[in-house]
Amino acid sequence: MASKSDVRLLMNDGNTIPVIGFGTYAPEYVPAADSEKAAKIAIDVGFRHIDGAHLYFNEKEIGRAIQEKIADGTIKRQDLFYTGKLWSTFHVPELIQSHVKQSLQTLQLDYMDLYLIHWPFSLKSGGEFMPVDENGKIIFDTNVDLCAIWEALEQCKDAGLVKSIGVSNFNRRQLELILNKPGLKYKPVCNQVECHPYLNQSKLLKFCKSNDILLAGYSVLGSHRHKDWVDQTSPVLLEDPVLAAIGKQYNKSPAQVALRYQIQRGVIVIAKSYNPERIKENIKVFDFELSSEDMKLIDGINRNLRYVAIPVFADHPQYPFKDEY
Ligand code: NDP
Repeated sequence: MASKSDVRLLMNDGNTIPVIGFGTYAPEYVPAADSEKAAKIAIDVGFRHIDGAHLYFNEKEIGRAIQEKIADGTIKRQDLFYTGKLWSTFHVPELIQSHVKQSLQTLQLDYMDLYLIHWPFSLKSGGEFMPVDENGKIIFDTNVDLCAIWEALEQCKDAGLVKSIGVSNFNRRQLELILNKPGLKYKPVCNQVECHPYLNQSKLLKFCKSNDILLAGYSVLGSHRHKDWVDQTSPVLLEDPVLAAIGKQYNKSPAQVALRYQIQRGVIVIAKSYNPERIKENIKVFDFELSSEDMKLIDGINRNLRYVAIPVFADHPQYPFKDEY
């Protein structure tokens, strides 16, 4: 069933994407079963876009949630938009189709609506999702051609395994590498990157818009602050007084203001919560509109603060965050 919150944007390949998505990553100590429960609640309250990934180790549970909501008549498959991602240990062009088929089987889906290269850097393929040497150092693969990976995604689209293809965590230079690839068949429809009022990505957003690529934001509420990834002394986005003051005017929470801000800038938002009340709260962002003054005030709190910098990958030549954007 179409939902009132199913507001969509047109992608450059003619398909559409719901502007708000439900994030499904949770740290390892959260049982995977919780993601199944949360995804069902998300669909019940109106989310029609689910953001997943092989790396999140819950494709089975998320797939079950989707199947259950189809079986009980809440949605039809075509109402739901599912995004999957190619993890960095699978950057072997000739194996990508079979890896996508494996994910589809785990998800119990015939196709994914969107498939992204999760990160531009490559890790040693096979075995562990985070391969390490005897000294505990992550083993990079530095010989991978990102254009060859992209061509494999184009073939997945042609084979009907995925409807649209895009990238994640690519900087401008890496996007240009794909856009300027000789013989490019399909442009990326989107680039999914960290984006919130403390890292508003205005330059990357402008570049993406000028190339008809949508920007999808993750950690839009200031990230789950995983202790291994996020500096625990960094400021907490949802405690920002500007977001609180603006929210007060509309009787909305700082989280709802942060989500609405992105939607009004044309950014797709992926919001994660496994808490039923907060899942409901996050979808209630279509019944108010921020004024242009509010938008400017929120622009003003940008501080180029990246929560998810993952410094363990910083020495990889394709680590995306050394360029300005
Ligand atoms: P978010 O910014 O979406 O969420 C952060 C935390 O905010 C959650 O842990 C949640 O906790 C809490 N929260 C949610 N709603 C509210 C609310 N209304 N009020 C107060 N707190 C709230 O962070 P993530 O970093 O998890 O990113 C979201 C999703 O984006 C991921 O799940 C994943 O799908 C995707 N992602 C993609 C990446 C990529 O490389 N492409 C990288 C990182 C994330 P609680 O559950 O307790 O409510």
